[in-house]
Amino acid sequence: MSLCDLAPGYIQAIAPYQPGKPTAELARELGLDETSIIKLASNENPLGVSPKALAAMRALLDGLARYPDGNGFELKQALSDRFGVEHNRIVLGNGSNDVLELAARAFLAPGLSAVYAQHAFAVYPLAVQAAGAQGIEVPAKDYGHDLAAMAAAVRPDTRIVFVANPNNPTGTFVPGAELEKFIAALPQDVLVVLDEAYTEYLRPDFRYDSIGWLKKHPNLVITRTFSKVYGLAGLRVGYALAAPGVADLMNRVRQPFNVNSLSLAAAAAALNDEDFIRRSYELNCRGMDQVVAGLGQLGLKHIPSYGNFVTFEVPDAAAVFRRLLQLGVIVRPIAAYGMPGHLRVSIGLESENARFLDALKQALA
Ligand SMILES: *Cc1c(COP(=O)(O)O)cnc(C)c1O
Repeated sequence: MSLCDLAPGYIQAIAPYQPGKPTAELARELGLDETSIIKLASNENPLGVSPKALAAMRALLDGLARYPDGNGFELKQALSDRFGVEHNRIVLGNGSNDVLELAARAFLAPGLSAVYAQHAFAVYPLAVQAAGAQGIEVPAKDYGHDLAAMAAAVRPDTRIVFVANPNNPTGTFVPGAELEKFIAALPQDVLVVLDEAYTEYLRPDFRYDSIGWLKKHPNLVITRTFSKVYGLAGLRVGYALAAPGVADLMNRVRQPFNVNSLSLAAAAAALNDEDFIRRSYELNCRGMDQVVAGLGQLGLKHIPSYGNFVTFEVPDAAAVFRRLLQLGVIVRPIAAYGMPGHLRVSIGLESENARFLDALKQALA
């Protein structure tokens, strides 16, 4: 028996996460000029990094010989000022991926289970499996979360229910009132991890006050990220808001310096760059209209999306994905999400959206 065979079976069974293809990789593979490639595969902000975040990082470069603040005081203070939550309710992470895993590591173990929806974010099954717990996948309803079925799927050994709102890759959304009813009806000893990676992209009439629910529902964990509207995906920084006891457990299992100095400073600055956030939001609204109209003109059906991406149905999606690559356009195949007949495209700059639609037309011809 080899050393690797001795790793726990649940570790050996992990199917690695499939990220969006980096532009440099496609350039190498196809001999393309990297600057000619557009990547609409990872729901990044097409406007780049917030200018305030850039300035904060530049001011910090000379201090990089020092370890970061392991408690992330300044970023916690910025979050606290912004959202009215105490520091002891905040867990900072190396991306929100990190805090999702911290929740799983703190509350799951072999013999326990976690519930999530079919077509939900791929990190949930990964985090559950890495903790040795059992994942319970609940069939989607119209590609979105079927909250009634998810509540019914909770077993005595269930410790976490994951909900992504809006969901990635489907872009579906559950109204806040339904969500709160769902949380209120769950047993108090089941943690609800509410992943709000795209919440800043919600239209004002769809926004809801999940942070206000924290005091009523001590089993609620809200996770958010600086990777999407804040434009800091490459830095890896996100956070969770939870009851103090839950946050304490999650903080105990994190690495002491899981968020680096640049990320801490950039995130605190980006959080308050209102102008950049508004421009990003507005660009996304216009781009969503542009892409949805273009898909319609090509006769393709899409799933109405509340995020900064849209998923559409296309005949022979795998072949269309490859043809788009040859045309220098990277989108995201989502067969691994149980959706082999769909592709997901992130909303880019107007010119990028136009190039994507043009390439898609060629790829379909
Ligand atoms: C992008 C995304 C995240 C954020 O990932 P980071 O690790 O913060 O970059 C979390 N949840 C969902 C649903 C996402 O799509």
